[in-house]
Amino acid sequence: MNEFELIQTYFQRDALDPSVILDNGDDAAVFSPRLNCETVVSVDSVIAGRHVPDLCPPDGFAARLIGRGLSDLAAMGATPRYVLLSLSLPTLEVGWVEHFAQRFHQLCVRFGVDLIGGDTTKGPLSAHITVIGDVPKGMAVSRQGLKPGDDLWLFGPDLGGARAYLDVLQNTQADHALWAERYWRPEPQFDFGIALRNVASAMIDISDGLCQDLMHLVERAKKPASIKLQSKMIPLCADLVDRLGTQTALEYALTGGDDYCLLASIPSTARVPEGGHRIGLVVQPENESILLDGQPLPESWQLGWDHSR
Ligand code: ADP
Ligand code: MG
Repeated sequence: MNEFELIQTYFQRDALDPSVILDNGDDAAVFSPRLNCETVVSVDSVIAGRHVPDLCPPDGFAARLIGRGLSDLAAMGATPRYVLLSLSLPTLEVGWVEHFAQRFHQLCVRFGVDLIGGDTTKGPLSAHITVIGDVPKGMAVSRQGLKPGDDLWLFGPDLGGARAYLDVLQNTQADHALWAERYWRPEPQFDFGIALRNVASAMIDISDGLCQDLMHLVERAKKPASIKLQSKMIPLCADLVDRLGTQTALEYALTGGDDYCLLASIPSTARVPEGGHRIGLVVQPENESILLDGQPLPESWQLGWDHSR
């Protein structure tokens, strides 16, 4: 199968949403923006050997790619609408591509997005996903705006499971179904994101480790602030404590990546959507940016995932 047949067979689908005027198959896609909305757009990469194992199963590759990508829209409080997929494949091996495409389209339907374009080339296994969503005018929730007096909240799955699954991949831990699920199937938290539009003063999705992403909120805040976290309020993935001990469980939850929860600062007077965890407080600046149970974070902790490392 040549490149054009492959694209046509596996990636060109008619768009479902009527806002798409020209879909996938032309030189570029055309869509009309919704009335009184602003467009929210972002791009994300998944590189084999870097963000996923070298030999990556096609369904996992698809799910991580779209889950990670769309999580950025959730973190803005946006409704997801469209995606574009740029794919580099080592060989045009039909079996792998077919499974990848099947899973990708399935998740597009589930998350309510149309695949409106992309690019396909031969090269090392990697993909870039462009995600497009929208919010009512002025309603996007940015990283700026955290301030002393806010509470710090988490919305979404418990933490640390995806980090623990890296140990499974390296054969230092026995397999664990829920850790595998956290790693392979990130769930963008759209419903929480949308519910937090009028509520959060700042928001971010946890992709690089809670503490590191929290630091982005602290650094981008307009007023200096410190954070007081309470370890007993941190939701830990199942069996982390049993298998790794309390200290490592907490380290994985607070510094491991790929959790894709939403982390939001919320004024203490606001009405908070049901289902979140209040994990700490934003206070006037102290010596440390983040205190855990009143103490500085352990020095041995790598704060989070640094893509340049
Ligand atoms: P061009 O030469 O104009 O870049 P291509 O041959 O790369 O055109 O792509 C043809 C059409 O197929 C375009 O509409 C493009 O958006 C779409 N397309 C190519 N690869 C993908 C992909 N992986 N996923 C979705 N659409 C794709
Ligand atoms: Mg092209």
